[in-house]
Amino acid sequence: MERRNLLQGLVVAPFAALAPTTALALPRQTAETTIADLDVFEVHVNRRGNWVLARLKTANGLTGIGDASHGGDDRQTVAYLKQLTDLLRGRQVFDVEWFRQAANQIVAGSAGKARSAASALEQCMWDLIGKTTGQPVHQLFGGRLHDRIPLYANINRSADPRTPEGFAAMAQRAVDAGFDAVKLAPFDEMPKIPSDDADVAAGTHHGIACAEAVRQVIGPNRRLLIDVHSRFTLAQGLKLLRRFEPLNLFWLEEVTAEDGFDDLAAINKAAPMTTAGGEALHGIAAFYRYIRSGAVDIVMPDVKLCGGMLELKKIAAIAEAAGVPVSPHGPASPVGTVAAAQVMATVPNFNILEFAYGEVPWRADLLDTPEDVTGGNLALSKKPGLGVELNMKTVARYAA
Ligand SMILES: [Mg+2]
Repeated sequence: MERRNLLQGLVVAPFAALAPTTALALPRQTAETTIADLDVFEVHVNRRGNWVLARLKTANGLTGIGDASHGGDDRQTVAYLKQLTDLLRGRQVFDVEWFRQAANQIVAGSAGKARSAASALEQCMWDLIGKTTGQPVHQLFGGRLHDRIPLYANINRSADPRTPEGFAAMAQRAVDAGFDAVKLAPFDEMPKIPSDDADVAAGTHHGIACAEAVRQVIGPNRRLLIDVHSRFTLAQGLKLLRRFEPLNLFWLEEVTAEDGFDDLAAINKAAPMTTAGGEALHGIAAFYRYIRSGAVDIVMPDVKLCGGMLELKKIAAIAEAAGVPVSPHGPASPVGTVAAAQVMATVPNFNILEFAYGEVPWRADLLDTPEDVTGGNLALSKKPGLGVELNMKTVARYAA
């Protein structure tokens, strides 16, 4: 008890002693780097959803961008973006930890619906911090460890029709574009947790057939990732593991309900292949419990949902301590992809980043300079902040 008190004293004392000096030493420019306003842009993508993009402006005319896409209900996301910007107005761009605590109260009160808005504004703040300090965000997050950001092609949002032939055709396009890792979610047509044995049998048969067709196209040496999107009970899922054994998966993702850590852990324990998941979780506390429960071998925080870039870095650190690799979940606009990539460039236990392949042919042109994906790797800009701007011509042309 005495030792604990001493440690707490050591933590508090330096800050208390430094606070007045630090306040006096603030550079003059920070008086102008207060957050002043918000723009929101919605871009039409496809039947799977639009891209929702936030842009914060400072009093001295800087702008910072963030990705609020795929939050579940875009109208609610936009409303929360406005509400959370009201909190930020007049605050310094550097007040990330303050915003994190203030936003978490609103996220908690919204049954999680505000989390994508909070995560997007946090990305905007890091873009602004980078521009204010003249540094790319990866320099502010510990410096760059990885020169190339390896991506896997998620073809689930673009394959049409969702048949073995449709998935195989899109997988072929991804391979031709240079990807050596491909993911699909071939059970999406099944009801969530089907109770009818015939439904389970038919859905399982269809999903395995789609996975087999993709394996055939990508060959034995490229990586095949399967996302089950929580369509199975524990008992059904344990049987499914055996069906996937011959397909030599790189990973199997979220067989059972995403919030049932015990069932996921039971699947993980029984699985002969690597498991992954965690895309829907928000905040370090949830990820701490998830990792500690043994739910997965690879953890998949989403920078658009988990709380933002600093939260992603903290989650990665918890995973690093547990010996767990991090592969961020990432169907996203190019803004969300670059936000995750800026953080992953600094993470020693980074594995591979998700990339929504083939959604729209003009994807790269959403950004200025255009998104550069070559050979299944994302090139990361060394310009300040996220290193990219919105191409307003593309934003206007495809406005939702
Ligand atoms: Mg998933």
